[in-house]
Amino acid sequence: MIVFLFDNGGTLTDDPFAASLSLLRAERRLDDLEASGLTSAAQEPLLAAWAEENDRLSFPFACHYLQEEYWIARALMRLAAPGGLVHPAAVAELSPRILRRYRSAARRVLAAQPQHPTVAAVMTQLKAAGCAVGVASNDRAFATPAIIAWTGYGDLVDIVVTSEGMSSPQVRVEKPDRLFFTRAVETMAAAGIEATRVVYVGDSEVNDIETPKAMGFTTVRYVNRLNPKARVWLDHRETTAADYSYETFAEMPDLFARILRDVGAKGRRAG
Ligand SMILES: [Mg+2]
Repeated sequence: MIVFLFDNGGTLTDDPFAASLSLLRAERRLDDLEASGLTSAAQEPLLAAWAEENDRLSFPFACHYLQEEYWIARALMRLAAPGGLVHPAAVAELSPRILRRYRSAARRVLAAQPQHPTVAAVMTQLKAAGCAVGVASNDRAFATPAIIAWTGYGDLVDIVVTSEGMSSPQVRVEKPDRLFFTRAVETMAAAGIEATRVVYVGDSEVNDIETPKAMGFTTVRYVNRLNPKARVWLDHRETTAADYSYETFAEMPDLFARILRDVGAKGRRAG
């Protein structure tokens, strides 16, 4: 069976971070934390420090889209210097409360992104052609399935695998390591999806193209110009060695119809 395996962040969904902070700000979602130690004077410095932490720091399985308490606590601690805007003793309880509000905002931002009908139509087209559709993401095990459900892709996706979900305390399994892709194929096989050809689709040249191409997968690069330039942990290269590429979602239906014809033809020749 031909499997189309998609990266999530920057490929199926765009980074919701900036829009989610804007929602928190516009809807005054942090105002009631004043009594818990987040003064109104601290709100804007917190959002600025948090954005800097998110831009600069990444770590294994870090979930930048739904965020981690780690960046919020670091930002709060930057404001908690002696005589600062936040009392150090308030950080332990403030940071998870702020995270919870962020995730509610991010859910709304992700659900409203405009590419979903186009991407869903492409997935429907792939499934109608007898292919399987999967998502394989460097992410927390809880995060990618939630995002896929919120965007409405859930009914079209046969399997979701994540770096955290495929890792153990002894073995870290993360793109761009080859093990990520071999484990993804093994996980699909265990779920009854026997891949005779994998078409891997992603926005990162290093994470989504170089290794899968070397492994013989068909590769498709989305050159996503909406990826925030400030994120040092993203690969911003605009050139690609992928077999196919696209720069707008509007190109997807025709491109994926062409890929289907090409890989289907290769499959018939091999058979
Ligand atoms: Mg990505």
